[in-house]
Amino acid sequence: MNPDLVLILDAAAFAADRHRSQRRKDAEATPYINHPLSLASILAREGGVDDAQVIAAALLHDTVEDTETTLAEIEARFGPDVAGMVAEVTDDKSLPKLERKRLQVARAAHKSPGARLVKLADKIANLRDLAGSPPADWDAARKAEYVRWAREVVAGLRGTNAALEAAFDAAAAVLA
Ligand code: NDP
Ligand code: ZN
Repeated sequence: MNPDLVLILDAAAFAADRHRSQRRKDAEATPYINHPLSLASILAREGGVDDAQVIAAALLHDTVEDTETTLAEIEARFGPDVAGMVAEVTDDKSLPKLERKRLQVARAAHKSPGARLVKLADKIANLRDLAGSPPADWDAARKAEYVRWAREVVAGLRGTNAALEAAFDAAAAVLA
């Protein structure tokens, strides 16, 4: 048994189950799980990340924010390191949307190395979605505002992984 493979497969299966009734906002309503899988692929293939706990955290990154899943449940199943990274990338949904977006910018530079990698991959994946399969009802101005905000978040994440930072810049340039 390879414990890294088991961790990654368990995280993928858990996320697929928790997101099973959710869809992305694009016109085709893509199954939500495609998004966490994209993060894992970006990290491994483009970022050269080989830490299984970071890949697992990427697979789980939206389960607490967007489903009924709790951090305690993540910790019990996947351990404190994975749960800690998921906690770091989970917005407090009791706060108003604009405050949550402001906090992502303010706190980016204070995140752990693993959480920074997950956040970079999340912003890359979302910008690529904005270019290739955007939310059905977003006009150009709304996409541009999202790119502007994502750039501010990523400014606080620089110095983490050069390949991922270049991938983010390329994804943002496509939308400029
Ligand atoms: P939202 O936060 O509402 O939506 C963006 C998020 O949607 C992404 O971060 C991603 O999050 C998820 N997502 C799901 N499907 C896709 C997809 N296909 N492509 C890209 N992202 C996807 O966006 P805003 O930042 O624009 O909204 C902030 C606030 O401003 C909201 O309250 C909104 O109602 C309001 N607003 C803003 C306008 C504007 O012009 N900026 C206009 C009207 C309202 P994840 O990775 O977590 O899934
Ligand atoms: Zn996400």
